[in-house]
Parts: sequence; structure tokens; C-alpha cells
Amino acid sequence: MRRIDNTRLFALCALLVSIAQFDRSLAFGASRLEAFKQRLRSRRHANTPHTLNTDEYLSYDGMLDYLEELSDAYSQRVLLQDVGVTYENRTLKTITITNGDGRAGKKAIFVAAGAHAREWLTPVAALYAVEQLVVNYELHAHLLKDYDWTILPLVNPDGYTYSRTVDKWWRNTRSPNGGNCFGTNINRNYDIGWQHGYEELTDPCHDHYAGSEPFSEPETRAVRDIMLDLVRSGRAVMFISLHSHHTSVFYPWVYKDSPADNAQELRAVAQVGAEAMRKATGTVFTYEQVGLTDTFGGTSLDYAYSIGFPLSYALELSGERHGDTFDFWPPTALLKELADESWVGISAMAEKAMEFYPQNGSKSAASHISSSYSLANIMKILLLLAVISLCSR
Ligand SMILES: [Zn+2]
Repeated sequence: MRRIDNTRLFALCALLVSIAQFDRSLAFGASRLEAFKQRLRSRRHANTPHTLNTDEYLSYDGMLDYLEELSDAYSQRVLLQDVGVTYENRTLKTITITNGDGRAGKKAIFVAAGAHAREWLTPVAALYAVEQLVVNYELHAHLLKDYDWTILPLVNPDGYTYSRTVDKWWRNTRSPNGGNCFGTNINRNYDIGWQHGYEELTDPCHDHYAGSEPFSEPETRAVRDIMLDLVRSGRAVMFISLHSHHTSVFYPWVYKDSPADNAQELRAVAQVGAEAMRKATGTVFTYEQVGLTDTFGGTSLDYAYSIGFPLSYALELSGERHGDTFDFWPPTALLKELADESWVGISAMAEKAMEFYPQNGSKSAASHISSSYSLANIMKILLLLAVISLCSR
């Protein structure tokens, strides 16, 4: 038998070791990544920086400060935009959250809160959603893979500030209507079935007042413009307007009793949200088309749906806990718990929406992984061919 020379034997061994190592290094790479993620998660849970303060109801300025803080700390994934100015000259600010991969044209979810001034829990819930998507990104990366989120945590800062400092039952904007009457109900001011429904919509002294004309309020126009922008760029999928305290997920139509074209889809997403919240906390949320029991015009959910958001909702948060009712102002000790409940609903609805409206032509995570493994297989085949050619000489 011919002696294999030492050089060739050494090369053969090196190649065989390489093949064995190749799979191991892939496996080690994956486990290192997972361990890193776990460390990151546990550190975040132990002492999370940039946590939303839920020990008190934030002022309008306090909310802006939190948005600025996140924008500074997570500039790669967060964009703040001034989208309008209120009657009393307060800036309306949105936060758009991405996963930072730079891919433009992703589908979008738009969440707006605090349209009704006295519903203090709703901006807390919106900011909590922001915190989950930005600070706890690792837990929610799947919600940002093919989607961007735009959140307007406080639609009506004039009314909110008035409610906090003068009259906590205040509901509307603060624009003058003549005489001694102020304010328009933002959620009756959209150009969809405007003024349709009941008498108070035309009473400038009533908290149902629909305004002097559709979009009379700068706050309503700001929300409209965000919606139109998302629709025109083909990105609009779901709009959620946060309200309290009906404990419901409402969907279109509101201004008429006929069903929406995709009523089954609208209902399926609402149901998923309601059931997720009930499972998490026991709170029973109803889900229904509003117009079947009560019809009135001018709402943001009807407007968003009418211009091209296939999924559009008013999520009415809870007004009671452990048998105690608290109307629009839950005790601050419950804020985190209630905001978390709303996030359970919002995130479940988002997952269902993404199922109905997946990103066109995007690569799934699974196909990414399988392509890297097929690369590994090609490398192994090449190494084996080298071994065979060495042995056959
Ligand atoms: Zn409301």
C-alpha cells in the first residue's frame, strides 16, 4: 500500500476538522446571540432606563419630555414630528417608531389618544404602548418587522390641561363658539356623517358639539393629515383611537347601521383584542359595530375607515377595577396595570392585523434563517469535494 505523504495527511485532517467545526460555530453563534438577548432582557427588567412614570398623571409638558427622552436615547428607531398647533398654541407631537432597519414604505399602525380631555387614562395607555415598542423592543420586535407605528399620545392638550387644572369633567377643545361657550367635541368633528345623530351635536354650549363645520378644529385637522399621508402612501392598515371608559372595542360604521365591507375582518381583529385582555386580566370587553345600537356622525374611526384604513377602532378602556368604579380617573396606583391591559389588547390586535395584511414581498425571518443554513450546506459540500480530490490523488 502506497504511503500517504505527511503534507497531504495534514491537509486531510485539517479539512475534516473544519467540516466538524463549521456546524458547531454556527450553533455557538446562535446560542451566544440568544444568551445576549436573555441578559439584555433580565437587565431591562431589573432596572429599566427610560421607563414611563406611571406614579402620576403627566402634564402635557411631562409627556413631551418623555418623548424627547426616548428620541435622544433611541434616535436610530424613533422620530418625533410636530404635526399641528392647537387653538391655545400647544404643539401636537407624534412619535414614529421603527425597528431601525431603514426599510421605507412599511405598512403602518396609527394610534391616537386623549381626544376627549377628561379621559386621562388614554394618553397614559398610548405612552405605555410607546414604551413597550421602544424600550422593550426585544420583546416586541415582531410588531416592528414589517410595520411602523405612529402614535399621537395627546390629541387635545388644551382640553386635557383645562381638565387637569379647572374642570376635570371637561371633554372638548378650548376654541370659542361665541357667547360664553367653548370647545368642540373632536370625535364628532370629522367629515363623515357630520352632525348626523342627535340635537346636541349642533349646540355650541354642549359637550357633544360637532363644531362650526367639519374639521373646524386644528386638532382634528392634524389627525386627518396624518391619516391622509398614510393612506396616500399606501401604508395605512390600522387606526386605533383610545377612549375610556366603556370597556369595548368599537368598529365602523358608527354613522350608519349597515355593515362595513370587511365587517368580518373588523370583527375578528376586535374579538382577538377583547379576548386577549379578558384572558390577561379578567376584564370583559365587548366588541361591536357602534351603528347597530346608536348612530351618530363625525367620528375618527369612521373617517379613517372611509378614506382607506381597512381596520379602524375606538378602544374604550376600562373604568373599574376590583369592583371599584372610577369613571375617567383611575387612582394612580392602577395606572400601570390598566395601561398594561390596554397594551395586551393593542398588541394582540396588531398581530391579527399583520396576519390579515402581511407586508408585500418581504422576506420572513424563517426564509432568512434557511438561506443562511443553505449557505452552510454549500460550504460543507465544497469542503467534502476538496477531501475527495485529496484522497483520490
Ligand atoms: Zn372618548
